[in-house]
Amino acid sequence: IVDINNIKPEFVKSFTFENKLMLSTWIVVRIDGCHFHRFSEIHEFEKPNDEQALNLMNSCAVAVLKEFNDIVFSYGVSDEYSFVLKKDSQLYQRCASYIVSAIVSLFSAVYVMQWVHFFPSKELKYTPCFDGRAVCYPSSKILQDYLAWRQVDCHINNQYNTCFWELVKSGRTKREAQKFLKGTQTNEKYDLLAQQFHIDYNRLPIMFRRGSSVFREQDKDTSNEEVEGETQNRVVIKHCNIIDCSFWEANPSILN
Ligand code: ATP
Ligand code: ATP
Ligand code: MG
Ligand code: MG
Ligand code: MG
Repeated sequence: IVDINNIKPEFVKSFTFENKLMLSTWIVVRIDGCHFHRFSEIHEFEKPNDEQALNLMNSCAVAVLKEFNDIVFSYGVSDEYSFVLKKDSQLYQRCASYIVSAIVSLFSAVYVMQWVHFFPSKELKYTPCFDGRAVCYPSSKILQDYLAWRQVDCHINNQYNTCFWELVKSGRTKREAQKFLKGTQTNEKYDLLAQQFHIDYNRLPIMFRRGSSVFREQDKDTSNEEVEGETQNRVVIKHCNIIDCSFWEANPSILN
């Protein structure tokens, strides 16, 4: 039996482990759907890319940016999203578990809330969940490399998946399609799509090829209307090439 008079709150609290993220570094929180291979099958996502599922992910990211002002940029593909917090963010005193849990739980809650809006005739059969982690990047250059890496991954996966599902749709088993594609180079996949399936890879929807970037953009229409002192920012969803440094040069305010 516990004698409540003997509990020493200070002592109990002293076991708390605070993992504070390094000062003056970009914080990236990447969330990823848990077992979305299964989730996408059970909810009959179109393969390789269900456009509405991606739109739902993007909408969740917009909600996250609107809630957390310290997030300056985010990039999403498939069932994942990376959120970049500004270098000098003091959100939750930079405590990793607080930051990650707040972002990932808001994202998951919005995903469930908005499901019906994106899939009005599809029942949500069980509650999806996401995991999340935080990583610090000490320079803008390394942060840009990180984001470029995610976009390269988007391209590689999308190209592979497009080939894979074309092969499956044309009658091959999944195992055969996998074996067929094993070890093939980018050029060979372009050619396969063009010659066998008459698909010009570069004409597939840009969201599938490049993923989605969500960030704040100064509203050019309202800025002429002289809104007292305040800059009007709206959160936009775009499908930019973020591998090329020209994107960052054209949008200097993001990583200023
Ligand atoms: P884990 O829990 O380890 O993340 P996972 O099954 O979620 O496992 P991922 O590597 O994250 O594995 O891959 C996500 C999977 O979800 C993809 O392989 C794809 O099958 C599916 N998926 C996610 N988004 C879409 C979409 N918009 N359209 C079709 N399929 C999707
Ligand atoms: P923070 O974001 O810092 O946690 P908070 O408003 O959530 O701020 P808490 O200290 O967590 O503050 O307190 C939760 C508050 O939520 C309580 O003070 C109470 O007002 C309200 N609350 C939570 N659960 C209940 C409940 N079951 N019935 C009535 N009020 C509740
Ligand atoms: Mg995972
Ligand atoms: Mg996943
Ligand atoms: Mg994933």
